[in-house]
Amino acid sequence: MIHFVGAGPGAEDLITVRGKRLLQEADVVICAGSLVNPGLLKDTKKECRIYNSALLTLEEVFALMKDAEKQGLMTVRLHTGDASIYGAVREQMDLLDEAGIAYESCPGVSSFCGAASVLNLEYTLPGISQSVVITRAAGRTPTPERESIASFASHQTTMVLFLSAGLLRELTEQLLAGGYSPRTPAAIVYKATWPEEETYICTVDTLCETAAEHHITKTALVIVGEIVLHNRYERSRLYHPEFTTEYREGRGKKE
Ligand code: SAH
Repeated sequence: MIHFVGAGPGAEDLITVRGKRLLQEADVVICAGSLVNPGLLKDTKKECRIYNSALLTLEEVFALMKDAEKQGLMTVRLHTGDASIYGAVREQMDLLDEAGIAYESCPGVSSFCGAASVLNLEYTLPGISQSVVITRAAGRTPTPERESIASFASHQTTMVLFLSAGLLRELTEQLLAGGYSPRTPAAIVYKATWPEEETYICTVDTLCETAAEHHITKTALVIVGEIVLHNRYERSRLYHPEFTTEYREGRGKKE
């Protein structure tokens, strides 16, 4: 059995209880090199074989999995954050399907959740934004034309940009072209929840200089939207005294 496990955003204790147990039971661990905290591997069995997938091709990763399976070993494929977000996990599953090898997924805390916790942000503030766009600037991996940053920016909703810290000039141009004002609040979160974490609050038009000043070119998230400054939102309906829910009778004024 192969287990795809989300390692969480960085801090050793932000893996799930299930993920930690699977790591303790694993005979083989294939982990995403620099983005997974090595501390997560310290509870693995003494005889556990550990591989760094940053040095391997998809075919080589698959060969390791197939080999382990043949020997009746349990493999953990450890992905940073949650494997469903830019995890290149589907292509591995397709090869496993073809080979008739069973697998399961164990979710992880994605870095966009880690970054929100670090800044105590709520991505979906009432009256400000009720949607979160998770996307990336087009780099060496292209993004479909219909998913341009400018088209998402036109909604002026909360945006979380992965894999874009090295492309901030293009990113800023597109955010502005889409309709964000240059003064829209933004944040750069470098290595959220790692000991070396750094966070910077800026605006859309100062993203480039902020990153340059602090030498941030990778392993960072860019968060854009009014929620970053969160000073003009409406309180939630769910917890309003006058609001009736399935569990609580509202008092006073009717909805
Ligand atoms: N599956 C991962 C994302 C992998 S793509 C997840 O769910 O988080 C790798 C990108 O994720 C990095 O380039 C960076 O943009 C972001 N990232 C991963 N870990 C991060 C962290 N701790 N802090 C900030 N950004 C991070």
